[in-house]
Amino acid sequence: MDVKGGVFVISAPSGTGKSTLIRRLLNELDRLVFSVSFTTRRPRKGEVDGRDYFFIDDAAFDKMQAENGFVEWVHIYKHRYGTGRAWLQDQTDHGHDVLLDLETVGAMRVKEMFPEATLIFLTPPSAKALADRLRGRRKDTEEQILIRLQHAKHEMEHWDSYDHIILNDDLEAAYINLKSVFVCARTSRERMEHIARAALDTFGSFPNPALFALGKYKLSQLKN
Ligand code: ADP
Ligand code: 5GP
Repeated sequence: MDVKGGVFVISAPSGTGKSTLIRRLLNELDRLVFSVSFTTRRPRKGEVDGRDYFFIDDAAFDKMQAENGFVEWVHIYKHRYGTGRAWLQDQTDHGHDVLLDLETVGAMRVKEMFPEATLIFLTPPSAKALADRLRGRRKDTEEQILIRLQHAKHEMEHWDSYDHIILNDDLEAAYINLKSVFVCARTSRERMEHIARAALDTFGSFPNPALFALGKYKLSQLKN
């Protein structure tokens, strides 16, 4: 029996540590794949087409939209971002868990489309810690950091729409909590039903204990 993989969405204000945690998770967990979004924004230094995003132009984005090619899409800072539908469907159909890195509006849309999706919100311990991390990353000016903090506040306000909230204060602890969400989901009744049933089936022909007493049945006759 084929068991479908799950859809997992992770959101966090920029600078919280989402990429750091996702990178490690993808390295350590098998059958977990990352959903590479489509975007009309230009690649930043170091970003690779097909790995970080599929960088497409407005016309290509319009075409995908018209063909219902997105599970969800949003407009942020003059650019559009969207989650491709076909690949996501194919991966879950093949039993892979799919991880989506989305801002909060997209996360809510995914939950509407896939009510069984697991939504994870990663939070920094404080605005100051977030500012320090953004500074440490050396990608933004002080003014850009202020804008990011203001945006972070809006994102943080959505925390209560998520299934799991993970505090990224101690990085190791945050990672263990994040990984646990996936491990736990993989042992859900729905996901394990075929395993439990198969194990139970092996008991199907288990004989009446009275046959043991008569020497007509031995435990060595049990099959795997
Ligand atoms: P995001 O993907 O959420 O924007 P990054 O993964 O790029 O964030 O992390 C932002 C910065 O914060 C990086 O320099 C990273 O090493 C650092 N960082 C991540 N988690 C922690 C943590 N728990 N404590 C301190 N610094 C952290
Ligand atoms: P950035 O431009 O910094 O890579 O991403 C900006 C924001 O867009 C991040 O919060 C990221 O999570 C979000 N994002 C990336 N891809 C998608 C997508 O396909 N859909 C939605 N809704 N958000 C996305």
